[in-house]
Amino acid sequence: MNKKYRRVIIAGNWKMNMVPSQVHGFVEDLRAAMPERSNGCSVVLCVPATHLGALSREKQRRIGIGAQNISQFDKGAHTGEVSADMIADLGAKYCIVGHSERRADNGDTDELVNAKLRILLDHGITPILCVGESLDQRDRGLTMEHIRYQIKAALYALTAEQVKRVVIAYEPIWAIGTGRTATDEQAQEVCLAIREQLRAEYGALISRKVCILYGGSMNAGNCAGLLAQPDIDGGLIGGASLKVEDFAAIIREGSRA
Ligand code: PEP
Repeated sequence: MNKKYRRVIIAGNWKMNMVPSQVHGFVEDLRAAMPERSNGCSVVLCVPATHLGALSREKQRRIGIGAQNISQFDKGAHTGEVSADMIADLGAKYCIVGHSERRADNGDTDELVNAKLRILLDHGITPILCVGESLDQRDRGLTMEHIRYQIKAALYALTAEQVKRVVIAYEPIWAIGTGRTATDEQAQEVCLAIREQLRAEYGALISRKVCILYGGSMNAGNCAGLLAQPDIDGGLIGGASLKVEDFAAIIREGSRA
């Protein structure tokens, strides 16, 4: 519909895969397989913090640098944590926040997600905010209620100008890493609902500008239908982003969308 107001983003989420020495070869191969012209499609790789240095050393990479998490603290006595300052210093322009795996494995609550999101915005890093329902919630008809709540909590106390800089990824938990993708209609229905929520709370100008991605077993075979949906502005891709050919095929489709 109003896609002309937004760019397409194809973001890979490597999760806890690969080692830093594999970054160079992967980026070279991906660059060779990517379309010459991006047509307004931004490509991002969200890698583990240990890989950011290697990714930032790639010259003319045509690939945005993304992280997967930051600490909710600015600095100091927080052993094992990585701050927004640190990832920014390594060139990160994007960072995933609120991924369901972190919510489940690391206890990232809605409050924590809100705190991290604000820190990212303060550091000029684009947050990729993940929201999504469990299979049980979908089966019980609670999808929209849950998503609405997660978005409200994550964006709590943000100004409309800040919200405009957030990328939202709708990732149904039952579709992540399962090979079971939401249908085009299911994904569009939720992404449209997210946009309507943004319109109600922040106005039409903001809601038209926010990029909303779909994530959950997106691959070379199913991306065309998903990316053609009027309220889906790209993808957050896990498994398929680890394979150059698959990821490049999704990028090609994103460059057409
Ligand atoms: C993800 O981790 O954000 C994701 C969508 O994973 P996958 O594509 O493997 O389902």
